[in-house]
Amino acid sequence: MARGFNTKLLHATSQKKDAHSAIQFPIYATSAYGFDTAEDIAGAFQNTRPAFAYSRSGNPTVDFFETRVKSITGANQVVAFSSGMAAITATVFTLCQAGDNVIISPKMFGNSVLLFTDTLKSLGLEVRLADFTQLDRVAAKIDARTRMLFFEVLNNPFLEIVDLEKLKSLAAEKQVMLCADTTLTPPNIFDAAQWGIHISIVSSTKYFSDGGVSVGGLVIDHGTFDWTAIPHLQALATQYGKNAFAFKLRKEILRNTGACLSPFNAFLQSIGLETMSLRFDRMNDNAFQLAQWLQKHPAVKKVSYPMLPDSPYYESCQRYLQGKAGGLLTFELESQSRCFAVMNRLKVIKRATNLSDNRSLIIHPLSTIYADFPTELLKEINLSERLIRLSVGIEEIEDLIDDLAQALQG
Ligand code: PLP
Repeated sequence: MARGFNTKLLHATSQKKDAHSAIQFPIYATSAYGFDTAEDIAGAFQNTRPAFAYSRSGNPTVDFFETRVKSITGANQVVAFSSGMAAITATVFTLCQAGDNVIISPKMFGNSVLLFTDTLKSLGLEVRLADFTQLDRVAAKIDARTRMLFFEVLNNPFLEIVDLEKLKSLAAEKQVMLCADTTLTPPNIFDAAQWGIHISIVSSTKYFSDGGVSVGGLVIDHGTFDWTAIPHLQALATQYGKNAFAFKLRKEILRNTGACLSPFNAFLQSIGLETMSLRFDRMNDNAFQLAQWLQKHPAVKKVSYPMLPDSPYYESCQRYLQGKAGGLLTFELESQSRCFAVMNRLKVIKRATNLSDNRSLIIHPLSTIYADFPTELLKEINLSERLIRLSVGIEEIEDLIDDLAQALQG
């Protein structure tokens, strides 16, 4: 019988048994590793003798974290990075050369969009923006130099869900790689490979980590893309087959950019993963109750949360996400000044960025995460100044309702 999500996760084993059979995989706080012979260390560098040589390129604690993620995603390869942003950057560096293009949704976490439109564009990458809820617009922008379609499955903070079946058919027809940021849809509710995603990127800072204690990122290769479709990966694809992308990602990009996850953070995030589905369910239950409560409040103009039956994404949430939307919701008040006043009166919910912390966190996205967005891009994403984002934690629901009730009353 196939094992369940938590059993697979908790009983994933490392490549080598720990010397003392420690139940919790230890932190290997070391930069380098000793070799018995010069031939051995040469072999490690030349990939003929698999071994850790230097912790920028590989570390047993980080490797164990990657193994755990493999066990719950069924992925072909998993490579950890120092942050979610580093994971996105490394993916683009692996796939793209100057003159290539990518098609991205402008409705994503603000820094992800600016990474493309500011930083990567200035290096010669052509960045094409398209609304992923209108797939004909995405299709019209694909050409022979399109290296990937990049979007968030449940996007932050808009909480829209793309039509994954249509997107999967489009990607297959055009032989283009589907790369999704699945940070808000972790593997306890969402099977990325099943819905046609070739590469998932995760900010493990969020649900994976133990409630807001560390920053990290993951690139998850589901082993389903034919890398010969990308001209500069063809030689590697001949040699390494479905491991071509992950080989370049780890051996060249991770090593040369040095954006490695520290073993301390890998340890914290491995522990975080052990309770992820429990924390997720509690956040999900709290968020659903709060969304329903906010919808009935006279001061609240609009609530967005895909578990609400009147959400335009209710059906997609049932179909793709096992009917669970997690801890993030948004609501609108009558003005920005009213949003600020309500936020300032909160006593339990913290004014902070980040999401899926164990504590509930609240933020006004337009004046913070999107403060650096150029006016034109802001128009395109249509982010309201009246919108508040609430990342619901695992506190008792009565305390969250009481806190919001007193804040909304003033
Ligand atoms: N992707 C999403 C959906 C995010 O919300 C964030 C951060 O909030 C990131 C990526 C970036 O991750 P990190 O902060 O770990 O670099």
